[in-house]
Amino acid sequence: MIFTNFKEIDKAGRIVISKDIRRHLNINPGDILQINADEHSITIQKAEEKCVFCNATEQLTEFKGKYICAGCLARLKH
Ligand SMILES: [Zn+2]
Repeated sequence: MIFTNFKEIDKAGRIVISKDIRRHLNINPGDILQINADEHSITIQKAEEKCVFCNATEQLTEFKGKYICAGCLARLKH
């Protein structure tokens, strides 16, 4: 399913993500969104929990809002 919305940006640079899209992607207040931009476009995606060092998404331990995987954690201990 593809959602297309046309939104006006306000003076503070904000846009509203429609309820349909938020519901579709399970985006809730307080969630972190990653915004990427290149020369022609902006993409917004829900930030995933991943290791801050290697981007692994499994066997994560949370510390102060950041995640580290078991492998990187073991290497740090040495
Ligand atoms: Zn890692």
